[in-house]
Amino acid sequence: MNKNQKILVVGCGIAGPMICYWLKKYGFSPTLIEKSKELRTGGYAVDVRGIAADIVKKMGIYDAIYTKRTSVLSKRYVDAEGRILSEEKGEKASFREGSDVEIERGNLVDILFQSISDIPCHFDKEIMHLIQKDEFVEVTFKGGQTEHYDLVIAADGLHSSTRKMAFSRDEYDLFSLGSYIGIFSIPNYLHLNRVEVSFVKDQKIIGVNCDQDPDRALVRLAFCAKKALSGIESEKRQKRCLKETFYGLGWESNRLLDLIDDSKDFYFDAIAQIKMDCWTKGRVALVGDAGYCPSPMSGQGTNLAIVGAYILAGELKLAKGDFSIAFKRYNELMRPLVDASQDLGVWVGESYLPEGEISKERVEERSNLIREKIKVLSSGISLPNYE
Ligand SMILES: Cc1cc2nc3c(=O)[nH]c(=O)nc-3n(C[C@H](O)[C@H](O)[C@H](O)COP(=O)(O)OP(=O)(O)OC[C@H]3O[C@@H](n4cnc5c(N)ncnc54)[C@H](O)[C@@H]3O)c2cc1C
Repeated sequence: MNKNQKILVVGCGIAGPMICYWLKKYGFSPTLIEKSKELRTGGYAVDVRGIAADIVKKMGIYDAIYTKRTSVLSKRYVDAEGRILSEEKGEKASFREGSDVEIERGNLVDILFQSISDIPCHFDKEIMHLIQKDEFVEVTFKGGQTEHYDLVIAADGLHSSTRKMAFSRDEYDLFSLGSYIGIFSIPNYLHLNRVEVSFVKDQKIIGVNCDQDPDRALVRLAFCAKKALSGIESEKRQKRCLKETFYGLGWESNRLLDLIDDSKDFYFDAIAQIKMDCWTKGRVALVGDAGYCPSPMSGQGTNLAIVGAYILAGELKLAKGDFSIAFKRYNELMRPLVDASQDLGVWVGESYLPEGEISKERVEERSNLIREKIKVLSSGISLPNYE
């Protein structure tokens, strides 16, 4: 019989449902809360690679993910007039090998959520106060209700408020990579068909791709900012910021920006990492972006969330719920993978937003380097078996 069975998991993104699935399988009683009123779908494509693919196979959801996978067949770079500078085709263009699969974040969240239909999940719910006692964590929710849990696992993303409640400011660093990203969908007026087109200039990138839905294209705008932006909390201001930054850049910049106000699935954030020496404190543990966001540039955030959740749940099972043993092992096992993923995030962030314009040679050289780095990373950890 496990100790510390009553576990609160915060955040229904990738890491949250993932850890709930494994905790329940190992005999714990997780409860999941999500601050949004409904499942937050949308977003760009994310990767499930290497041992993360092995983990979703163990859960029996790999086929569902594979069915919904993206299938972009060609990646092109164009110049300001839309002339093709370089083109890479097939899976190789997306740095995938073997069972690696890419899927839109929203589709993955949906599949994970369906796999935990037997676990209580409360939307529009968030923590206001959290007090750690010797025997339990006292949690007060929005609305004033108080509850005791044996453990709290925070999977509430890059801007985790649980992290802010449980850790002091000197125990984590929100490390900005000096850039921002905006993502939104538009009608596919460029008539792209399983193609991604990118235009890079002056440390800004515009990417547009169309995948399964021929009527819809996804736009990705990323840019370097000399200093941290302020006053861009609201969606309106974020959209205005993108308009000011990208208007007149070239290629399709102006037409894309004219469509931004009609988008229903707008996403905007700083490109940042969370740096911490330890992802656990007392009876609280952080998993996924909340503890070790490697930045969207790394392409490793989803992988880390999947692997981290699997390892944390597995170590709790091995230690029969003794969190002090399990948390120590979790910190040790995840460290090399997190550090390598964050190094990759910094490197990709810099190389994707170069000064001036990009050349065919530079694209090829960079792609080869990324492939090598991902291969090293994928072999950096072997899948522990907790069955
Ligand atoms: C809406 C959305 C769109 C995204 N789009 C992209 C993208 O296009 N490209 C990309 O590379 N990365 C994107 N990301 C980030 C990427 O999905 C993550 O890096 C990665 O998948 C790690 O997953 P995670 O579960 O740790 O965090 P996340 O996927 O960020 O999930 C965290 C969850 O916690 C919830 N939450 C936050 N605060 C609280 C709170 N106080 N109480 C309860 N719940 C809370 C959030 O609503 C969210 O559902 C997106 C994230 C979100 C939330």
